[in-house]
Amino acid sequence: MKYVSTRGKMPPQTFTETLVMGIAPDGGLAVPAVIPRVDSETLTRWAGLSYPDLAFEIFSLFIDDIPSKDLRTIVNQAYNADNFGDQAITPLRFLDEKTAILGLSNGPTLAFKDIAMQLIGHLFEYVLARNNQRLNIIGATSGDTGSAAEHAMLGKQRVNVFMLSPHGRMSPFQQAQMYGLDEPNIFNIAIKGVFDDCQDIVKAINADADFKEKYHIGAVNSINWARIMAQTVYYFKGYFAAKAAGVDEPISFCVPSGNFGNVYAGFVAKRMGLPINKLIVATNENDVLHECLQTKQYRVRTAAQVLETSSPSMDIGKASNFERYVYHMLGDDAGELAAHWAVLASTGVLDLSDLSASIESSGLVSGQSSHDNRLATIQSVYQQSNDYIDPHTADGVYVAKTLAAPGVTICLETALPAKFEDTMQAALGKIPPRPAGYEGIETKAKQVIVLENEVDAVKALVMNNA
Ligand SMILES: *Cc1c(COP(=O)(O)O)cnc(C)c1O
Repeated sequence: MKYVSTRGKMPPQTFTETLVMGIAPDGGLAVPAVIPRVDSETLTRWAGLSYPDLAFEIFSLFIDDIPSKDLRTIVNQAYNADNFGDQAITPLRFLDEKTAILGLSNGPTLAFKDIAMQLIGHLFEYVLARNNQRLNIIGATSGDTGSAAEHAMLGKQRVNVFMLSPHGRMSPFQQAQMYGLDEPNIFNIAIKGVFDDCQDIVKAINADADFKEKYHIGAVNSINWARIMAQTVYYFKGYFAAKAAGVDEPISFCVPSGNFGNVYAGFVAKRMGLPINKLIVATNENDVLHECLQTKQYRVRTAAQVLETSSPSMDIGKASNFERYVYHMLGDDAGELAAHWAVLASTGVLDLSDLSASIESSGLVSGQSSHDNRLATIQSVYQQSNDYIDPHTADGVYVAKTLAAPGVTICLETALPAKFEDTMQAALGKIPPRPAGYEGIETKAKQVIVLENEVDAVKALVMNNA
């Protein structure tokens, strides 16, 4: 399998080349030259596989520059009960006869980001050893991505992580998950600014080609193709688990969305041949995706227009991975995509009304949730099912119930409530019990370097420790 850029100006790359690439040199995103199709016999065979066996089968369709034996080892290192608490990796549970929850957040940092990051950690270690290289990952986080990346890179000899976070803005639990790590290859950098300032610093460092090359700068952000590939697996797994529980078609998925990485993985699974009915995009008050699917106008927001909400991991003004989806809606035409994105860059708006029919047949629909909807859903799920769901998952459950697609809707559990105790307290008047091993993590000594909001200060730190 070769990878091309959505904007068409990149020579085809192998999987491992795209792995450490970040954004494509032409500003686009890496996509497979063709999305592989699986037939119904294959689906029947896959239905009985364990999570790692299924992951191995799916990854083998996308990766041809890692020998099978090595890929097998990498998959087994990433997906096991030690990392995810359960052999099932992503267990399915039912709230009622129409609504199920797919548990994606049982990894080390209690959000679905672990599923992709755990794989990436082992892939990086393998590829860097093979190429005798080192990598300095520089990233920005508002919470979940940073801790998932750091936990995935623990003890990896060839990788340093420099993770920028906005000083004093993450939840105490999220701060403890990152700053509590005392590891020689992990550098927590709290920037005196907001998340967008952190992201601007990362962009500025990546724009400095000399620095990037000299210090082997890499990325693990949500546009990394390997993250998408890793996330396709649980759509298959969730679908098969529902069928095994006796559920009939149609089966839809509801996805609490921000950067569109998670739901795009569902789109890829559907393109591969998994008979998903609807892919429901659930947004919070930051409704750029919901607005786009309703009006067919993609109108990106400025940082100042992004609201701070009680489902913070979905607080975005533009959805990076949406570019991949539009590329497919344009018939995988990179020239057309590049022309559309040039319009978007100059006007801030993209008119997709010509694509209405393709969008319709892709199965994507949307809904929106608010703070009050979120709290009411956390309450009603607790009262009816004695089940604690986190604020992001609650946005998904609210939208799934409002849209009421025919048949069963599988709602993706994108985080556990332990990460967002303030909102759980507001909804229920109490906080849910924490998973074992996470009690009192806030009391650990904090390893964090506070820096001014200056690119050079971050560069100096990287130079001294790379
Ligand atoms: C990252 C994240 C999301 C949004 O996922 P995208 O892939 O960016 O759409 C939703 N919920 C939680 C808890 C997250 O961490």
